[in-house]
Amino acid sequence: MTKTHWTPSSWRDKPARQLPAYPDALALKRVEEALEALPPLVFAGEARNLTAQLADVAAGRAFLLQGGDCAESFAEFSAGKIRDSFRVILQMAIVMTFAAGLPIVKVGRMAGQFAKPRSDDNETIDGITLPSYRGDNVNGFDFTAAARTPDPDRMIRAYHQAASTLNLLRAFAQGGYADLNRVHKWNLDFVKDSSLSERYDDLATRIDQALTFMGACGITGDKVPAIRETNFYTSHEALLLPYEEALTRVDSTTGDWYACSAHFLWVGARTNQTEGAQIEYVRGIANPIGLKCPPDLDPDTLIRLIDTLNPNNEPGRLTLIARMGHGKVEEKLTPLVRAVKREGRSVVWSCDPMHGNTFKSSSGYKTRKFENVLGEVREFFGVHAAEGTHPGGIHLELTGQNVTECTGGAQDITEENLSDRYHTHCDPRLNANQALEMAFMLAEELKS
Ligand code: PEP
Ligand code: MN
Repeated sequence: MTKTHWTPSSWRDKPARQLPAYPDALALKRVEEALEALPPLVFAGEARNLTAQLADVAAGRAFLLQGGDCAESFAEFSAGKIRDSFRVILQMAIVMTFAAGLPIVKVGRMAGQFAKPRSDDNETIDGITLPSYRGDNVNGFDFTAAARTPDPDRMIRAYHQAASTLNLLRAFAQGGYADLNRVHKWNLDFVKDSSLSERYDDLATRIDQALTFMGACGITGDKVPAIRETNFYTSHEALLLPYEEALTRVDSTTGDWYACSAHFLWVGARTNQTEGAQIEYVRGIANPIGLKCPPDLDPDTLIRLIDTLNPNNEPGRLTLIARMGHGKVEEKLTPLVRAVKREGRSVVWSCDPMHGNTFKSSSGYKTRKFENVLGEVREFFGVHAAEGTHPGGIHLELTGQNVTECTGGAQDITEENLSDRYHTHCDPRLNANQALEMAFMLAEELKS
């Protein structure tokens, strides 16, 4: 199937949802031009490597672990925070690699995950109506007219924060932090007080023993780079199209267009219209891409979307991220999995057990029950076991910090505890303990 005409700006001819109404078109244009002049954040070759690794996932030979903040913010930006998120993702990956014997493809919801889709364009508090907060690259969180007015200059600040974050992530991944000889050291201090910590330490000891044995046989980090460094990719939702367009560049080796704001972009549940602007944009970039699959997506529409997004059926190109809500996965996911299988489409099936399980607690906090999150994951594995397909990945909102945003888990966070350390700018995240508990559970599922 040949692609119909596409350019980085062809999305502008399509109906666009969820884009901010910038009050000053000239200011927006100036920012777009400034972004176009800035260097790409990622390189096409890296995105191609990720596609190749995701092709392994699609073939059932690897597992995708994607996670990070719901929304990054300008205020919560520090080396420690980036390190903690990176570290908990590494810990999760090592648990799953060791216990399930599968390579884990690690992708952060990091270094660019700023823009947020909103259910309502406006928010009303005490009779005052203002535009909804759409993420720090669009407007401010404070409920004032000044903060909530979309400001294009925020895209420049987001670009620079993404660049610094990516710089540190690359250093951690390749500069020695991720060396397998350091698995013990990755254990986070507050995780140390829990039974999970014991499980993790036990596993780390076994990895140490294996490395000592390998070292004695001459297999060491200076000869085998995979022991001392790792691959870590970045991703965010393809939402704020003026920003994405400005960072879309031609790859000099292939002549293809790549989104150079991150390695992987996904289209959210609110912007998945076949004829919509976000779908138009991502269909033309050569990066690996994702598509959120909410419970109201029917199999025929999904196949039409796959026709548009991956017309050549390239393995690793498309990840379908199901976010159905616990209790609904068997009913809603099964017809989609069957249709994709029947049509012979190569996809990565990933599970987002967060976005279908959000509710407001009696104390007023937006939260998720960890048991429901785990429940959705189990149901996801159940559907793939029944259909003979590969449960390829997990998409999580998590942080390495000791927050109290989702209830339950080994620490048994209650609705009353939520106010203790509720820091998220948007949706509630798993904390490091809950993330590690999830990893042990995933490892069990992957083994069986
Ligand atoms: C998200 O991933 O933060 C999100 C808003 O998800 P969804 O588009 O699936 O609702
Ligand atoms: Mn979210």
